[in-house]
Amino acid sequence: MGWLRAAVLGANDGIVSTSSLILGVAASHATLSTILIAGVAGLVSGAISMAAGEYISVQSQADTEEAALKLESRELKDDPESELQELTEIYVGRGLELPLAGQVAKQLMEHDALQAHARDELGITETLSARPLQAAFASACSFAIGALLPLLVTTIVPMTYLFALIAGTSLIFLAFLGGIAAHIGGADIKKGILRVTFWSALAMGATSIIGSLFGTVL
Ligand SMILES: [Zn+2]
Repeated sequence: MGWLRAAVLGANDGIVSTSSLILGVAASHATLSTILIAGVAGLVSGAISMAAGEYISVQSQADTEEAALKLESRELKDDPESELQELTEIYVGRGLELPLAGQVAKQLMEHDALQAHARDELGITETLSARPLQAAFASACSFAIGALLPLLVTTIVPMTYLFALIAGTSLIFLAFLGGIAAHIGGADIKKGILRVTFWSALAMGATSIIGSLFGTVL
């Protein structure tokens, strides 16, 4: 479910940042084409920055894991006795009695020594093995899809209702996504919805105020 959560969060970011951007620019009394150019630029730059950020974070995680695994497998080859000792101590630390811990460590190392050490000493599980390009692509796409929503609303509604309709539709979708994210995470759905709508409304309000200040100054 990790990817679904990431996709929901990406779409969330896309909606909040693009609708805030559009409201901010609109509040400065910009023309429709200026608002749309800003929105599209926000979509593209946001999607690229999401992809780059995700790629770097997942790749550096993968590099760290790979280096740790290399070191671990060398240690296993050079000094299997202390490695057995080390794993035994880890299990004792987790509550097993010494003889049982030794037995568990021995059997797990006979089965797959590197996997046992990776999991119980380094905390690396197979599900964590990173796919940076996939992660980057997924978050860029979900951001772009989220960003398209306020952009589409901007193109179809009359300027007079732009504020109410952008804020309204965005908050409805955000509440929906917040509910899904909370549901996936097993958290309280109502709290999830309240939290995301509150912070998003705050973001849209802040950019609108700043935009209207600039609109009167410039
Ligand atoms: Zn080890």
